[in-house]
Amino acid sequence: MKPSFSTRLWLLVALVLCLIVGVSTCSTSPPNQNFSKEELSDTCRGFVGANPPAPEAKAKPSSELEKQAREFAGSNGIDVTAQNGKFHFKLKAGKEIALFTTDASAAGLKDAEKELAKLVSKKKTELESTFGVSFSADGEVVDQQWLKNAKGEWEQGADVKARLPRLNELYGIAAALYRAQPSHKAKGSPTAAIKFYFLTDDLTKGERPLATYRSNRNGAPAIHFYPNSTNGRPVLEIDAQFDPTRSMGHAYGSIEALTLHEISHNHQHVIDWWTVVEKDVADELGFVSTGEGWAVKARTKDKSGNHHLYRKNDKTDKWMRCDPAGKEIAGQPELTGAEMRKEALNRPMTYYFPSPSETYAEGVMVLRLGGVYRASLLAENPALYAVAKRLDQREIDQIYGKDTYLEWESALDQQGRPVWYQVQKERSSYIRGSDGYLVKNTDASRQAVAQYEQKVSDDAARKKLSGTPKGGK
Ligand SMILES: [Zn+2]
Repeated sequence: MKPSFSTRLWLLVALVLCLIVGVSTCSTSPPNQNFSKEELSDTCRGFVGANPPAPEAKAKPSSELEKQAREFAGSNGIDVTAQNGKFHFKLKAGKEIALFTTDASAAGLKDAEKELAKLVSKKKTELESTFGVSFSADGEVVDQQWLKNAKGEWEQGADVKARLPRLNELYGIAAALYRAQPSHKAKGSPTAAIKFYFLTDDLTKGERPLATYRSNRNGAPAIHFYPNSTNGRPVLEIDAQFDPTRSMGHAYGSIEALTLHEISHNHQHVIDWWTVVEKDVADELGFVSTGEGWAVKARTKDKSGNHHLYRKNDKTDKWMRCDPAGKEIAGQPELTGAEMRKEALNRPMTYYFPSPSETYAEGVMVLRLGGVYRASLLAENPALYAVAKRLDQREIDQIYGKDTYLEWESALDQQGRPVWYQVQKERSSYIRGSDGYLVKNTDASRQAVAQYEQKVSDDAARKKLSGTPKGGK
C-alpha cells in the first residue's frame, strides 16, 4: 500500500497537466478504486469528525425577535447584542469589530441581511483585488460527487455545489493570505492564485475532512472547505488562548490557521515538494521512508545505536514499532498519537504528523503565525524550523527575487599590503519577519530576526537546564 504517494502523484499530475493543457481535459477529481480516507487526508487538515460544536447562545434570548437575530448572526459566524431597541452586529477577529446596527424589529432583521451581504461582497472584492484569489459563489457547481455503486465501484453522481464564504471566513482567510505571501500564487503564473470553495456537500460521499488542497476542474490550485468546517472556530489564532502547558501547546483551530495549513500545500507544490524536496528533507524532519510509506524516528535507540522506528497502525490508529522496511516488530507496546509526539526525535508541532508532507505543512503554518507560535516551533523542533525557514525563503526569492549590492573585500598584494576592492553580491529582497509578515531585507530586519531567534533559543536552553535534576537558572 502506498497511500500518500499515489495521492501526491495524482495531485501533481492533475495540477501540472491541467495548467499546461487548459480547461477541457481536466474534468475529473479522480478518486480511483484505491481512493481512501487516508489518501485524502494527505492533502488536507483531516481531522474527520473533529469539528467543534456550533457556539451556544451566550444568553437566553429575551424575545422571539432576539432569538431570530441570534440565529441569523450564529449561522453567519458573527455576534449580535440587543440594546435600546437596536441590534448591534459584531465580529471578533483579534479585536471586536462593530459591523452595523439595525432596528430591533422584523424590518431591522431584513436590513441586517442586506448589510451583511454588502460587507461580504466588499471583503471578498478586497481580497480578490489584493491577492488575485477567488471564491465560490452561491450554487456554483464544484464537481460531481464520487460515490460507490451497489457493485462497490466508484462512479460520479449528483453535482456538489458550493456557497459564498461568510464574513468570518473571509476575515480568517484574509489574515492567512497576508501571512502566507507569496504562497497564494499559482505555480508559474504572475497573476493566477488559489480559488477557495465552501462546499455544501462532500466531494466523495462520506469523506469529510476539514479542508483539502487540490486542483479544481479547471486545473487551478484550489482549497475546499468542507461543510461545517468553520463552525465554532475562532477567526484568528490570537482569538484562541495560547497555552504552552497544554500537551499540544496549541490547537491551531482557528480559520486563519486552517487556511494557513492548506496554503502551505500550495507552497509545497510551488517548490516541487512532492517530486524533489520531500525525499531530501525527510531525514532532517525525523522521517524514514519504508518504501510503502513513512516511519517516524523515535528518540530511543536499539543496541546498535539506530533510532527506533514507528509507523501508524491503521487498524488501531496507534503507532507501532517497525523495521526500516515498515514491518511490524511484534511484542512492542503501541503508542498513542500524544505518546508518539513526545517520543519522536523531532517533536511535531501538532498531533497531525502522518507524513513529512503534513508535518511540514503544520510547521510552515506555525512559522507564518509568527511571534509566540513561531517561537514554540524553534524551541520545540529546531530542525523543522530550519527546514521551513529555508524553503519558505526559497519561494520568497522565487517570487520577489534578489537584490545586488557591493561589498568591500581585501586581499594582500605581493608586498603583503592589503588591497581593497568591491565585489558584487546578492541577497534576498524580502525575508519573513519574526511576526510572520514579509519585510524588506535590510540590516535592521535581519538583525531583528536574529535577535528574536537568539532569545528564543536562549530561553529554550535555560528551560531545558532548569528541567534537569541538578537544575540551573
Ligand atoms: Zn494537509
